[in-house]
Amino acid sequence: MAPAVPAAPAPPAPAAPVSPGVLHLTFDDGPDPAWTPALLDILGRHQARATFFELGAKAAEHPDLVAAVRSRGHTIGNHSWSHPEFTRIGLDAVRDQVARTDAALGTPPCVRPPFGSLTASIRGALEASGKHVVMWDVDTRDWSLPGAPAIAERIVAGARPGAIILLHDGGNDRSQTLAGVDHALGILAAAGWRFDPVPGC
Ligand SMILES: [Zn+2]
Repeated sequence: MAPAVPAAPAPPAPAAPVSPGVLHLTFDDGPDPAWTPALLDILGRHQARATFFELGAKAAEHPDLVAAVRSRGHTIGNHSWSHPEFTRIGLDAVRDQVARTDAALGTPPCVRPPFGSLTASIRGALEASGKHVVMWDVDTRDWSLPGAPAIAERIVAGARPGAIILLHDGGNDRSQTLAGVDHALGILAAAGWRFDPVPGC
């Protein structure tokens, strides 16, 4: 990597990002009425667009939230129906999980396996069905509730052009994630970063 040359006034803590580019924020396990609407407002304030890997069961329960995500310029991927580990349920069950979720979401092009749990044969089957399998480059571990400052620090420290950042808008109390994202986007946007959905999703 080339040495970072600051092109803008130094941002506040936690860290000085490398030369800016496009970052891809991803939010898993929603949509959730407790967190997704507030997250959409935060992303909107920072003019950030992201990709949401949604659960089919939750999407079917909250079609209004699915529509809200899309209406704000974000894209949606398939994160299975009920979040099983794909490596434990057999290929037929994997196909069923993905197909039921496709039906709820309108067959998005991208899929992210729950827990990132995957084998070469499962990946092959998903790709043979036309799906683009999307993992991540930076795991903020927001699911472990490390506190908003730690989540913000991991986003900023992990910023590299084109990097995919793993976050969550469902599955637990996500107040730390929302505060951490708000803080990190302020720092990164001031340094010139932009935030787009995962390419192809
Ligand atoms: Zn998940």
